[in-house]
Amino acid sequence: MNHSEKNMIKPELEKFLTANLKSIRTRIARVLEKCHDPGRNVTLIAVSKKQPLEKVSILAKLGQVHFGENYVQEASSKMEMLGDLNIKWHFIGGLQTNKARYVIGKFALVHSVDSLKLAQALHKKALSMKTVQPILIQVNLAGEKQKSGALDKNVLDLALGIKDLKHLRLDGLMIMPPYFDDPERSRPFFAGLSRMKQEMEQRLGIGMPHLSMGMSGDFEVALEEGATMVRIGELLMGPRPGCGLHEPEQ
Ligand SMILES: *Cc1c(COP(=O)(O)O)cnc(C)c1O
Repeated sequence: MNHSEKNMIKPELEKFLTANLKSIRTRIARVLEKCHDPGRNVTLIAVSKKQPLEKVSILAKLGQVHFGENYVQEASSKMEMLGDLNIKWHFIGGLQTNKARYVIGKFALVHSVDSLKLAQALHKKALSMKTVQPILIQVNLAGEKQKSGALDKNVLDLALGIKDLKHLRLDGLMIMPPYFDDPERSRPFFAGLSRMKQEMEQRLGIGMPHLSMGMSGDFEVALEEGATMVRIGELLMGPRPGCGLHEPEQ
């Protein structure tokens, strides 16, 4: 990946982002065609963590609506600065229970619910704001220690607990598999999450529309396994400043 867009002036940046957006949309459409599923609705989420406001603003003006952020404070200041643009924000980072109240009502979807304690904190705030917050359960299928996500043995119980919380709406599952250079190695995790969603829908008797899976390096494999939301950062917006490609989660 080249770093030259760091010094781009605005028209160059617009060109860079326009080309990336077009190329990613084309690649998404191509996979759906290959899977004989051109009617599946796939949401491209531009992951804008640590990216400058200007890139978000340009992309929004190019028609990109969905943006993903990992940190509450950074997201809030972006929302404030870009309030006049048509943007739907997604919270995709690890979320501490004591910060839960800051995300309600601000994010179209919270992707990273991984404990009943966190769900209850979100629910409490949603109730007090008389709103219903759409959420996903983040699953840690690899059982990686120190990573966000509910372990698979706990997911069904968590979903049952969430079902009772009337101010949360469970819309599906999210996964961030371990990092591999070869995207094929992510495939079993994506397939596993897809299977888990089907089983849960049967057990819970509810439909869940979304599977949030796939990032810059593996979104095509995720789409082949049924993703409805792909979260793409660096491939769309360029390298994040001041960090390597694959920093650990916060
Ligand atoms: C950073 C991040 C992404 C995007 O990663 P890229 O490799 O830049 O596409 C997607 N999902 C989550 C949860 C992230 O933290």
